[in-house]
Amino acid sequence: MDLLSQKIERSELEQGDHIYSWRKLGYTHHGIYIGQGKIIHFVRPKNKAGGGGDMLANFKRLTTSSSGDGEKTHCSTSFCKLEKVAESGVKLSCIDCFLKKGSLCRFKYQVSREFLLAKMVAGTCTTAESDPPEEVIHRATYLYENGYVKYHQMDNNCEDFALYCKTGLWSTDKGYQGRSSQANVFHSTSKDKKHKEWGESIHRYATAIPRTFSKREDKDLGIRKDVVKVPVEQLSSFCASLK
Ligand SMILES: [Zn+2]
Repeated sequence: MDLLSQKIERSELEQGDHIYSWRKLGYTHHGIYIGQGKIIHFVRPKNKAGGGGDMLANFKRLTTSSSGDGEKTHCSTSFCKLEKVAESGVKLSCIDCFLKKGSLCRFKYQVSREFLLAKMVAGTCTTAESDPPEEVIHRATYLYENGYVKYHQMDNNCEDFALYCKTGLWSTDKGYQGRSSQANVFHSTSKDKKHKEWGESIHRYATAIPRTFSKREDKDLGIRKDVVKVPVEQLSSFCASLK
């Protein structure tokens, strides 16, 4: 069991993989590999508030420049950065544009509770089981073609999108989805905007980890009890029906 790295080579990519890439500020951007060099991923729509309040403003400023969004710059791939439903935030990208020179990693499913807790970095694994690749690709493609739920840095980000595509699981708790484990880490580490240095970033992680461990276990998709399978065709009506 490899606790240190989940890095893979491009040749190892398989259709339906949930992949992620590290960004400069020490967080991960997530997407679903659908084959033929194409990745469907969810980014914060441009010029949209994203549903967060003042509390998140700083974190947003820190991450906007590398959130996985961005202009279509110098990419000759015809499909890249296409957004079928305008401002849905669900995009189709080539591997290069998704990675932005970061490394390629594969998110792990069905890990043991011990693995989940031993893994020092959030946003890399879950105890939940992945559905078969055809189903995963169907969900990702459907959301790309029909639009998705509104972006929210803490409750519905790129990791949430990929987790939903893989598992079909959605929380019945409207007030707090909290499926994305890395959102919890950032929640407790995003206060000091001056500290951008790596050393300080690591220090912030280290101090956040004890607090986030219990949260991570409680909120893990495979462990929590308030999640249900929601067919992708019914996702928007399901979300609208949540009280
Ligand atoms: Zn591209």
